[in-house]
Amino acid sequence: MPIAIPTTSTLNDALSIKTTKKGYSLPSSSKIQSNPLPIDVIRRISQHLVNDEYLNTVSNIQRCSKELYFAITPILYKTLHIQQFKSDSLLSFPLGLEQYSRIEGKGGLKGVNIKDNEDNQDDQNDDDLFKEENTLIRRLKSFEYVQNLIIHSLPSDEISENFNKYIKDLSFIIFPNLNSSVELLPQALDDLRTWVPPTYTYYHNQSDLQLQLPAFLKMLIKNSKPEKLCIAFKSLLSENWEKHRDLTLQGQYQLIKRLSNLHLSSTSHQSLWGKSLKFVNIHNIVHQILPIFQNCENNYFFQSHLIGTSANPILVKPGTKKSVYLPGPEYSYRSWQIIKSIQQLFPSNVKNPLQVIENTKWNFINSNGHIATKSSDDDDDDGYCSVNHKQVSRLIKDSVKFDLPQDLPMRQGFDRSMINRLFDQIHYLDDEEVECKSCHGMSI
Ligand SMILES: [Zn+2]
Repeated sequence: MPIAIPTTSTLNDALSIKTTKKGYSLPSSSKIQSNPLPIDVIRRISQHLVNDEYLNTVSNIQRCSKELYFAITPILYKTLHIQQFKSDSLLSFPLGLEQYSRIEGKGGLKGVNIKDNEDNQDDQNDDDLFKEENTLIRRLKSFEYVQNLIIHSLPSDEISENFNKYIKDLSFIIFPNLNSSVELLPQALDDLRTWVPPTYTYYHNQSDLQLQLPAFLKMLIKNSKPEKLCIAFKSLLSENWEKHRDLTLQGQYQLIKRLSNLHLSSTSHQSLWGKSLKFVNIHNIVHQILPIFQNCENNYFFQSHLIGTSANPILVKPGTKKSVYLPGPEYSYRSWQIIKSIQQLFPSNVKNPLQVIENTKWNFINSNGHIATKSSDDDDDDGYCSVNHKQVSRLIKDSVKFDLPQDLPMRQGFDRSMINRLFDQIHYLDDEEVECKSCHGMSI
């Protein structure tokens, strides 16, 4: 998927006639000079190009003039894709000491008055913004337009640390309008699971140590206020799930801990997400331990069986005849996953458990998806130790209903009378009943 990164393409490259992969053609530069298009028209065209993911083309248009820069930047940056290596140039703020002191000498970022909105244009501000020494500041200011962030993979700590150094003394946050959604796609989740923290000397104090997160995410939780978070595990064919589980088992709990750190505030790290996050959608779950976000509506989308080929996967709905004898976890594993996601919020000596219950919701969507089942005609329990495909849904729910009241009241701080209130917050839904309002399952 293309991403918004600065390129070195020239004006002619951007405007000369060329046929794109879908057959669009753009006018020559001479035509534009003699009969320029109104900015609004270019803006509308650019919006269509962004919708069709021609981001490099739009990036080139943006650079044609100051007017186009201000007209196109909000469109180009509305949804920002972050990919390792590809986004490195976007996030690189490589300050040698000399360059840093030059900017510092001019008052740094604070010394440049950047306009707040398009209606409040000021020529002097514009000129300042386009001075060579303000190139980095101009790039940084374009992040103001980001409303949605899609993280395909995590940028390296080295790149992110330099970025963090550059912004550390700013009095404003870098993504002030990133209040819609952040998506963590499968590779980014894997990066988070397998991330190795730098040596202990890297941490300034104990609270830094507790808040172990890659530098990019550490920056993000302090510089944005998203309402929705989508987390997507890798979607793969049923025949491959067991191999995938074995490969990704290591670090599962580490991943859960790190995800919970995203909305945790410590003395040195005030995560803005703790207050901003309202909805968390977790996609393509098969065997994974489930993360839980306190004070949020947690939507768990379990994956159905997939057959066919990787290029042409075919979805098999649970409970159907076709879904039997396909490889997947046992039903008891699914109830264990669900119970675990609830137990996590109620450790022993939990404070204000009733408040936690009131503010947190669990929606388990397609919870019988991908479970190993047998046919209702098959009475032979010896050959295949799984359950009838028509009963699996009920068995999972019954198991949760039975096990939780056995366990939670045993924990200090949790009163037995809270169990029913807790069950009011837990819902089981079919996937037709609920759609992810953030990514619509499209970017998975
Ligand atoms: Zn989503």
